[in-house]
Amino acid sequence: MPDVVKISFEIGTPLGPRGIDIEVEDVATRLAELVPIAQLITDGFLDASMAHQRAEGREISCQAGCGACCRQYVAISIPEAFYVAEMLSELPEDRRTLYTERMAAITEQLQQEGLLERVLDPTTDRERLLDLPKEYFRLGLACPFLTDESCAIYPHRPTPCRDHNITSPAELCRDPYGNTLVKVPSPLPLSALLSQLTAVRCGGPRVLVPLSQVAAWVDTHRELDQRSWPGPALVEDFVSQLGPPPG
Ligand code: SF4
Repeated sequence: MPDVVKISFEIGTPLGPRGIDIEVEDVATRLAELVPIAQLITDGFLDASMAHQRAEGREISCQAGCGACCRQYVAISIPEAFYVAEMLSELPEDRRTLYTERMAAITEQLQQEGLLERVLDPTTDRERLLDLPKEYFRLGLACPFLTDESCAIYPHRPTPCRDHNITSPAELCRDPYGNTLVKVPSPLPLSALLSQLTAVRCGGPRVLVPLSQVAAWVDTHRELDQRSWPGPALVEDFVSQLGPPPG
């Protein structure tokens, strides 16, 4: 049996610091295995953040059946891309085929619209990211995982989806660039932190992978998914990027 190391840390939330304890096995650990920890941190923060909103008299407008935000450009870190690909590979064949066919259809449409090259540019270059989300949204491409206007992978959705919660009226989300949306604060940019950690551990620039292109991207980067590090050191490294909670 491998040793288990307990790692405890605090995150700052609108309701004050919140303690999180994780047990990490001292075994070779891949980047994708950090994702459940990132989800735990995001959900811990958001629970407090949403409770704070309600205490202030604001209701969360997001509900199952409203997939307005699921036509936005979602880009995720490499660990999350591997995590989503792994989840896809474990689905029954008919669902796996459905989602990969939807991704291929989106790729084709992006190609026709002349946007594919920019979408596939993996760097987090600020200039590139400035207009891309707006142009992507204009195409009205539903996320491959959006089914009956609900998220078909809800428990596994990436952190950018997890921390997108709004209190302004839901109908405004149909035109997020023309309307002013009031978003629940989420100051934990975990996708960015996972990207940063990947860049440091693997070398190279920080990379974001478009969610709609995950299957094809992962197919050409399998070697990265095979890399591993001692679990406790990798998790400590990730957690240290969160910084101390605000005092
Ligand atoms: S993964 Fe789920 S929540 Fe995120 S954009 Fe797709 S359908 Fe929406």
